[in-house]
Amino acid sequence: MSTSTTSLPLSGRVAVVTGASSGIGAASAEHLASLGARVVVLARRADRLADLVARIGKDGGTATAVAADVTDAAAVRAAAERVAAEFGGADLLLNNAGVMLPAPIEELAADQWKHQIDLNVTGLMNAIGAFVPQLVAAAAERGVADLVNTSSIAAQNIFPNFAVYSGTKAYVTHLSRHLRAELGAKNVRVSALEPGIVGTELQNHVTDQGALDWLEGSRESIEWLTAQDVARTVGFIASQPPRVNFQQVTIMPTGQPA
Ligand code: NDP
Repeated sequence: MSTSTTSLPLSGRVAVVTGASSGIGAASAEHLASLGARVVVLARRADRLADLVARIGKDGGTATAVAADVTDAAAVRAAAERVAAEFGGADLLLNNAGVMLPAPIEELAADQWKHQIDLNVTGLMNAIGAFVPQLVAAAAERGVADLVNTSSIAAQNIFPNFAVYSGTKAYVTHLSRHLRAELGAKNVRVSALEPGIVGTELQNHVTDQGALDWLEGSRESIEWLTAQDVARTVGFIASQPPRVNFQQVTIMPTGQPA
């Protein structure tokens, strides 16, 4: 079916997805495009973005790649200016780029602490700074816009050795609740998306042996979520009537206890 069909729930919408070159971001971009949104996919790996854009196009959707590092505020602002010029602005931001680098705090892995904070907190804020004005403008014009921030079950539960990652995700969830209260009056819905464990490239960056062993044990004993499971949740959130705002959506693998 062509995505230009007006009955698709997200037709006419412009969705920006950060962290779109793999995992949850890539799957969400594909799903949002299948629901009729024009998607702008943002990450650092331009080759992966080009493949994704081609895949979406082949399936009848519309996608544009913007290679940018979200920790670079000027680059994210330039990306937003391009979205404004080419599409008249975004009305959906899936603020999703992130990294998880667990390790016991006594290892003093300061570079990994900084990497997680720079990307999961500062990168997220750079995208908020660049795109919230567009969301507010779109909501004023068309009655609704969405800011979906990818948090994690780690924002809620306690995972030994995941303190810094969990701290960044607690920030994302708490920030989202505040922004929802602030932006709801302007018809911008804000959601914190909190997946349990999802099989993506996220686990590939882990270097701590204890964490790798824990992940391996988990993979063997639990059927993890897929990126597509989370993508469908993003589509569901964005397809609600304008009065409906999922504030916080936790999606767990059935077998993951906490
Ligand atoms: P992936 O590693 O597959 O995806 C991470 C994405 O972030 C990639 O597209 C990567 O692309 C992008 N990225 C990394 N650094 C930057 C940067 N500096 N600038 C722009 N983009 C960047 O993992 P997931 O899909 O799993 O992760 C997506 C989000 O989901 C993260 O926020 C993660 O914390 C969260 N999450 C994941 C869970 C899981 O179990 N997988 C569970 C709960 C939450 P590139 O390298 O090309 O820049």
